[in-house]
Amino acid sequence: MGRMLLVTARPGIQVFWTVVVAATLLYTLTTGEAESPWAVALTAVSYAAVMTGNHFFPYRKYRPFAFFLLMCSCLVLIASIVYLTGNRESILSFLFFVVPIFAASYFSYPGTVLVAVLTALARYVPFVTYEPGGMVQFSLALSAFSYLVVGVLACYVFEGQRMYARESAEYRHLLQLALDKERDVSLIYNLSRKFSYTLDLDNVLKTTAALARRMLSADGSLVFLVEDGAPRLKAALGMPQSSDLSQVALPADENWVTRLEGGESVTAEGVSLSWLGMPAGADRGYDLWAVPLFAGGETVGYLVCYAGSSREAAEAHLEVLTTLASQAAAAVEKARLYSNTLDEKRKVETILFALRDGLLVTDSSGVLVQANPVALQMLGADSEALGRELLDVLGGPLLASDLGGYGPAEAVAAVLEGHTIFGEMELAADSRVHVQAQFIPLEGQMGEVSGLVLFLHDITELKRVDEMKSNFVSNVSHELRTPLTSISGFVRLMLAGRAGQLNAQQKQYLEVVSEQAANLTGMIESLLDLSRLQARSVKAEMQEVDIAGVVETAARDLRGPASEKDVEIRTRVPASLPKAQADPGRVLQVLVNVIGNAVKFSEPGGLIEVSASHSGPLLQVKVSDNGPGIPPSALPHIFDRFFQARTGEVPEQGGFGLGLAISREIVEMHGGKIWAESDVGRGSTFYFTLPVHG
Ligand code: ADP
Repeated sequence: MGRMLLVTARPGIQVFWTVVVAATLLYTLTTGEAESPWAVALTAVSYAAVMTGNHFFPYRKYRPFAFFLLMCSCLVLIASIVYLTGNRESILSFLFFVVPIFAASYFSYPGTVLVAVLTALARYVPFVTYEPGGMVQFSLALSAFSYLVVGVLACYVFEGQRMYARESAEYRHLLQLALDKERDVSLIYNLSRKFSYTLDLDNVLKTTAALARRMLSADGSLVFLVEDGAPRLKAALGMPQSSDLSQVALPADENWVTRLEGGESVTAEGVSLSWLGMPAGADRGYDLWAVPLFAGGETVGYLVCYAGSSREAAEAHLEVLTTLASQAAAAVEKARLYSNTLDEKRKVETILFALRDGLLVTDSSGVLVQANPVALQMLGADSEALGRELLDVLGGPLLASDLGGYGPAEAVAAVLEGHTIFGEMELAADSRVHVQAQFIPLEGQMGEVSGLVLFLHDITELKRVDEMKSNFVSNVSHELRTPLTSISGFVRLMLAGRAGQLNAQQKQYLEVVSEQAANLTGMIESLLDLSRLQARSVKAEMQEVDIAGVVETAARDLRGPASEKDVEIRTRVPASLPKAQADPGRVLQVLVNVIGNAVKFSEPGGLIEVSASHSGPLLQVKVSDNGPGIPPSALPHIFDRFFQARTGEVPEQGGFGLGLAISREIVEMHGGKIWAESDVGRGSTFYFTLPVHG
């Protein structure tokens, strides 16, 4: 309002001064009352100064100077007009200008205008008793108007000053608020930085308590963590020394606690802290701020601050505390996860260390990331092997491996593609060990292969015992063969009547002895053959072999016993079948074993089919029967030594359980494979492969 008054008045002032100065000069000059030419000049100069001051007045930069110039010019102008108009005796009336100026420093526009009007009226008092002349009246009116103008101008200045003072107080207040906020923000920023690398839960809790107290300038702060569904006090500042943290529990019956546990941020006044062991506050208890700590959609704890009742529980504090709480909750969660991970890691390490088998873990690129002491010992390595390629670490001590046809590098590559590989390896580090190796792919979070685990189970002792057993069997067999040869020989002589005539009973008994001796010889021969094959002490005499011919020979040899049982043997080998690269005697041995078994187990009327096919570098021979079949539980073991599957329905067929074991050794000696498929009650099919010649 004041500003507007002045803005609208400013052009008015110019017009006013122009009219007054023009009228005065005109009057003075025309009436000849101009007694002093310098007064006229002064009037003209001060008029020019007022106009100039008025011109600069709007410009902020010149405002104080322009105002000063304007005020001085106004006074000089009024003085010169008064002087010119002859009202010299009332020159003192200038002093009255002080009054509206003084009023303006106290009052706003209405007050100042009122004082200016009263001042003008006061100027009339000396003239109450007589009627003043026209010139004096003019002068009086002029000074009254001047009081008004000076008062309004002064008021404008003082109002501006007052407004500036108010604004600067407000500004200072805002600045303080901003500084407070900045302090909070930088505290929280520092806190989040500190929390980002603090994984120690205890440290996180203590820091949170300390910061909460500092940010709120509170007397005390408490951090509770929810454990087993109940909040437990974990860190506290400002509590009485004697208090036992573990005994403190939030007072369940208080309203603020109910709201807090319901997930609300709470401020409360006049709260009793007797549950904390705090003395009752002054008159009205304590002020309190409390916020929940949320992490992962759950309340993991509470942050509570309190102060003596002199302070107000301001909302701003709650905001700061909530921000702090969210940082703290995340840090608590992270520290807890970290501590859980450490626990898990410790558990795994304990298991690994206690394990008597070797265990190695690699990442997805086959680099060793973990190894237990047993594995390191087996490989003759130390913990520095971690970080190296598994194949590198394995390469040195690896003497031999049998990993289902894979080389070590291929095995690792296949496992990292998701295959599981079992096999055996021989390692020579500090000592020579024979291990059963199990390569298992590790699955990552997205189902991808994130590495592999290699279990190494020491079977050195087993191997040694097995070898001892083989040697024993081989030695015993060898030793048995000589007496058995003489028994058979002499029995044969006696049966031939070379030791005198035998009666019928003696002949019958000796025939049984001869038959059993032949059986025993057969078994001993098989055992010796097997141990020689296993020891690789016999070599296959590889040559170009016509499989059709060998199949025919085997079928021909077995057709006799087969027809005795009314079992038919059919052979179907295509003429186009390539020749095999094999030892024909050994291949015949395998065929006789397999077809012989088929004959042995087939029931009368049974059919045995022998066929052969060719794919790539391998020939495949197939022998199928429609006999009783092999139970699934027995199927994996039929190629083991001395294994004989016994099912209730199938009558005992004789044999030693060596035929298939020998066959496997022979086929593998050729670089082939032998396996069987069977359906109980429907029959069995045996397959073996041999390399193609050339
Ligand atoms: P055996 O001297 O007992 O025949 P093998 O090693 O030749 O010893 O065979 C091992 C076992 O495999 C046999 O005892 C039998 O249980 C089973 N088997 C082998 N061939 C057949 C087949 N064609 N039908 C059913 N079972 C078979």
